[in-house]
Amino acid sequence: MKYRSTRSGETVTAAEALLRGLAADGGLYLPEKLPAPFVSYEKMQDFSYQETAAYVLGRFFTEIPEETMAAFVRKAYGPSFETRDIVPVRTIDESFSMAEMFHGRTCAFKDLALSLFPYLLTWAKEAAGEARRVLILTATSGDTGKAALEGFRDVPGTNICVFYPSHGVSPLQKDQMQKQEGENVRVCGIEGNFDDAQSAVKAIFASPLSAEDGGDAVIFSSANSINIGRLFPQVAYYVWIWLSLVRSGSIGQKETFNVVVPTGNFGNILAAWIARKIGTPIGQLVCASNENHVLSDFFATGTYDRRREFHLTKSPSMDILISSNFERFLYYMAGARQTADAMRALSEEGVYAMPADVMARIGEEMTGGWADEAARAAVASSVYEKYGYLMDPHTAVAYAVYSDLRRKGTISRGTHTVIVSTAHPYKFPDPSAEAAQVSVSGSPYDRLRQLAEATGIPVPPQLARLEDAPVRFGDTIAKEAIADYVKAYAGEIRKASGVK
Ligand SMILES: *Cc1c(COP(=O)(O)O)cnc(C)c1O
Repeated sequence: MKYRSTRSGETVTAAEALLRGLAADGGLYLPEKLPAPFVSYEKMQDFSYQETAAYVLGRFFTEIPEETMAAFVRKAYGPSFETRDIVPVRTIDESFSMAEMFHGRTCAFKDLALSLFPYLLTWAKEAAGEARRVLILTATSGDTGKAALEGFRDVPGTNICVFYPSHGVSPLQKDQMQKQEGENVRVCGIEGNFDDAQSAVKAIFASPLSAEDGGDAVIFSSANSINIGRLFPQVAYYVWIWLSLVRSGSIGQKETFNVVVPTGNFGNILAAWIARKIGTPIGQLVCASNENHVLSDFFATGTYDRRREFHLTKSPSMDILISSNFERFLYYMAGARQTADAMRALSEEGVYAMPADVMARIGEEMTGGWADEAARAAVASSVYEKYGYLMDPHTAVAYAVYSDLRRKGTISRGTHTVIVSTAHPYKFPDPSAEAAQVSVSGSPYDRLRQLAEATGIPVPPQLARLEDAPVRFGDTIAKEAIADYVKAYAGEIRKASGVK
């Protein structure tokens, strides 16, 4: 299968799309044609998570031999996950379930894609005959960085460099990054927000290194959710969620289910939308935002306007005003021409608008909603009180939107709804303590112990381990210094690889 850019007709192989991340015209890659609906309960009812993933991914990466893909998937979704189900679906009552995507190495849903992505990328490197080392550049709002670092650490032929907003992540997220292990990794805080980091990284991609700066030894690639190697592994878990719901009897074989996704860069929900395109019976698809509700406003008004105040919230992975993957959805709704124009307007003026016919199509595919900090905190405690279920702040935003739309009648009551649970609550000790109404004090690790004591929910070993690990990467730099930082690292890699 060939891949094409959202902004022009440029087509490339899957290997090229994986290696480049971003298309030369600034657009994002998508399959030339989405596969016709192919998922079927009859065929897949006994599939394990690994079998589901291999089957779904095989349709998007047709050049990767079946056996090879099966091996990648087995390695990616093995013992690094705490549960054999990989994404367990917990039905809380007849109206909703939680799809728990936080049982991987870093306790966030990004582990699902980033456990597999390094295998896809090293396959692509070989398939493209690329002898240079791949330097993964990643801007993170918190969770991507750590998941990418864990995915790529000590993977042969690769290096990874991660930038995170120094003041925009939780103390545990900061520890996760500053204490990262691995010989091929670099992590650096920046004075700025996620959008600053992402813009700087995109600018570096747009101006390749000269040979003397390392260009003869190093090529850049991205682990951000714009890479197709991030997107398609996420499609697989929506198919898995469906199979799980039917198997547990939470829905019937012919029934649909709604999905509510806490959204930032729009990667997770886009995967759900693609899952529906390939036949997963998803009914309503709800895009939930926090106080940075650019998307929810767009769904309501047809205008995407990033010229607004940026809010730091307790759901930092949703503190995003430019949702990169939204460009892909727009492409399907409006075509390459209008998408390219909109993206130009967004970068030049910070705003674009879509005509009524496009908005009508969008309205049929997706619903938006948002919740403020007060609503998020309120549902986190009420759900804990009522069901004994502790949600992380991102998941709580999704739940708050769900409950709001249900009250308004926008979400049909007769259809089972899945709330996508994107992080372990213990990644965010303070909001979680508030939700459980436990008073905690001391270091983040003390707080987790007190929480565990009070709630009976154990501290995941991935988090507990961090407490005594040494800080390896304590630097914070100005956002203007990102390009030079990367150049210096590329130079070091070049030297180490012995290029004269
Ligand atoms: C990344 C992330 C999100 C947002 O996902 P997108 O794919 O960027 O929309 C939501 N919640 C958590 C915990 C995350 O890490």
